[in-house]
Amino acid sequence: MPDLDVLRGLARDEPGVQDEPVLAVEAAAQGGTLGALQRYFGEDDGRRGVTLVVDGERVGHVSRADAIGPLAEATRGSYGSSSGMSLPGHAQYRLLRLRCPIPGCPTPEILVMNYDEDDPPRCPTHRSVDLERA
Ligand SMILES: [Zn+2]
Repeated sequence: MPDLDVLRGLARDEPGVQDEPVLAVEAAAQGGTLGALQRYFGEDDGRRGVTLVVDGERVGHVSRADAIGPLAEATRGSYGSSSGMSLPGHAQYRLLRLRCPIPGCPTPEILVMNYDEDDPPRCPTHRSVDLERA
């Protein structure tokens, strides 16, 4: 999955801001994650960065600037362009935002490409509680 290589290259070994959303990626999953992440940042200027987690392991912090910056240049066109839907390969994908439904839960927002309503991921803090779409 080439997207994952790019994302790994963007990830820095530094702590993100507190309560930063977690971008949870499965290495075996389909591509499109980078485009979806750019779209995620493009939708809200307040989104500063995410923590990249691949197959449950923390890789590092990916900042907004890096995700939509020069290193991601190859995918330019999907970001900030309403005509991006015509570009193949990305732009079609959107990250789903999942949250623990328990008030005050310390688990940050979790961003995923795929979500099975019949078998949703569980909150890492409240292990028996299903995460819900934000
Ligand atoms: Zn929780």
